[in-house]
Amino acid sequence: MLKIGLTGGIGSGKSTVAGIFQQLGIPVIDADEIAHELVEPGKPVLEKLAAEFGPGILTHGGELDRKALRNLVFHDPRAKSKLEAIMHPAVFAEMKRQAEKIQAPYCIFAIPLLIETDSQALVDRILVVDCPERLQIERVKERDGLDESLIKRILATQATRQERIAQAHDLIVNTGDLSLLEKQVRDLHQNYLNLSRRRNDP
Ligand code: ATP
Repeated sequence: MLKIGLTGGIGSGKSTVAGIFQQLGIPVIDADEIAHELVEPGKPVLEKLAAEFGPGILTHGGELDRKALRNLVFHDPRAKSKLEAIMHPAVFAEMKRQAEKIQAPYCIFAIPLLIETDSQALVDRILVVDCPERLQIERVKERDGLDESLIKRILATQATRQERIAQAHDLIVNTGDLSLLEKQVRDLHQNYLNLSRRRNDP
């Protein structure tokens, strides 16, 4: 099945775009959601994390203490690499597993850090949602009430707009209103349906 990798910087509009694809009946497999599910109590990935980082990353109830883990990797780049070496392969394997079970002309792999994690090979095409940083900042401020300085720090850890766009097969420019965004997604949907048809019936 044709797999479209949906990516973009913080607040660019990825979730909104994913929601429109879903409304069009297209399955969305979300890397962040899967990452959350994989670290539920009793899951092997959580056990691996606890073995690697110690019981300090678990709450008394045996759940992942996200704050403790975040603090740990924030101060230690090697710990961050170890965390990624556990999480990324597990998330990507689960995404592939879920995609194999789906019957649809194509599906969306929503991977916010697709470029940063070098996971281009997972998908057939890369769809980037882009807008100026100013707009990203305003949207996240409005949505989450975060400090501008914190949003800027997050932006600085992500790929630049240029780096992302350089790898895009398809681009959504999310600078207009929601109806303009919907139109762009509907047009892409038609293209992807055509591509999928051609792949399956060359
Ligand atoms: P994150 O990386 O933080 O998960 P995201 O890329 O998934 O963000 P969204 O949550 O889809 O971004 O959008 C950020 C905010 O901007 C949301 O509150 C959303 O409703 C709003 N938004 C996105 N696109 C538009 C638009 N075209 N017009 C108005 N509001 C928009």
